[in-house]
Amino acid sequence: MLSPARAWREYPQRYRLEASRCTECGKISYPPRVVCPGCRGRQFETVTLSREGTVVTFTVVHVPPAGFEGQAPLILALVELKEGARTMVQLADVPDPSQVRIGMPVRLEFRKIAEEGEAGTIFYGHKAVPA
Ligand SMILES: [Zn+2]
Repeated sequence: MLSPARAWREYPQRYRLEASRCTECGKISYPPRVVCPGCRGRQFETVTLSREGTVVTFTVVHVPPAGFEGQAPLILALVELKEGARTMVQLADVPDPSQVRIGMPVRLEFRKIAEEGEAGTIFYGHKAVPA
């Protein structure tokens, strides 16, 4: 899990699926970075990622962390979007984890992620669903 401060800072970009494309080598980083991991370049343009991608790998969590109770089994998938950027998201709308396949086409949707504490703070973010 991200720390609350870091999550807060990254949320707006994450919500909009904004990534940075290095003007030097073209590598796309999501979330955006200050220094390109490909060529150490520092010049970027902002690109908005498509919501379509495929499952690269996934893991099934049978004992979910606090705030995710009642969601077991929780499927976490590393999704590669069409642009090549990868993001770790929860895979939703799949009743049986045995249905998940590597290479499976998915689409990112904006969903409620978790509810936390007595204040009932609700976190929203992207989840992948079968495309
Ligand atoms: Zn670069």
